[in-house]
Amino acid sequence: MSKKITIAIDGYSSCGKSTLAKKLAKALHYQFIDTGAMYRALTYAFAQQNLVSKDHLDEKNILQSLPSLEIQLDYQPDLEETFVKINGNDITQQIRLPEISALVSRIAAIKEVREKLVKEQRRIAEKGGYILDGRDIGSVVFPQAELKLFLTASPTIRAERRFKELSDKGIATTYEEVLKSLTERDEIDSNRKESPLIQTEDAFVIDNSHMSIEEEMELILNKIKTLV
Ligand code: C5P
Repeated sequence: MSKKITIAIDGYSSCGKSTLAKKLAKALHYQFIDTGAMYRALTYAFAQQNLVSKDHLDEKNILQSLPSLEIQLDYQPDLEETFVKINGNDITQQIRLPEISALVSRIAAIKEVREKLVKEQRRIAEKGGYILDGRDIGSVVFPQAELKLFLTASPTIRAERRFKELSDKGIATTYEEVLKSLTERDEIDSNRKESPLIQTEDAFVIDNSHMSIEEEMELILNKIKTLV
């Protein structure tokens, strides 16, 4: 049997990172960790406690509440869904709402939040055979990952894809709102002080603006054959 490597997928918001990660996990029989879901889960919990909203961020109480929050991720390959619980409560649907997307980058910029989640991600995936998608996987969480992918696509194409995905789920939003939200998120994620989104020198960069998922998969599976 070929050796199990670690695959890091980073890139801008709504570039199809998790779609790709799920397909790769299925093809390779690997585990998948959606690290964005962890940042979203904490954001949801803090929003519930009125510690973050559009116009305020109560960092002092966020830091106080942080140690009491326990996140559980359960990726079910048959359903292609990551089920997310915080302190035992299922919040799988809630974390995808546009209001959480609009707040998550501010929570993800907090050093202590990142430390907690990075530690957890390393603990879960240290054995290899994992695919993680996020913003700092190849740069910070697993800089030694055997394969680092950096995905990009034009903002308008990303917004169209995300808008369709949200509409299909019955979530009310507009294309303009989606475009604005993802542009703001990229801006904060790329410019924050703690582990900003960067393209590492050793990453394999894929602009999938005009690529089908099948073409993307073929490209990456061929690349993996040279590694394992
Ligand atoms: O991937 P997703 O869009 O669900 O991520 C939500 C947000 O979580 C990102 O915009 C980013 O602010 C944060 N994030 C992060 N580091 C990761 C994964 C997500 O900062 N590894």
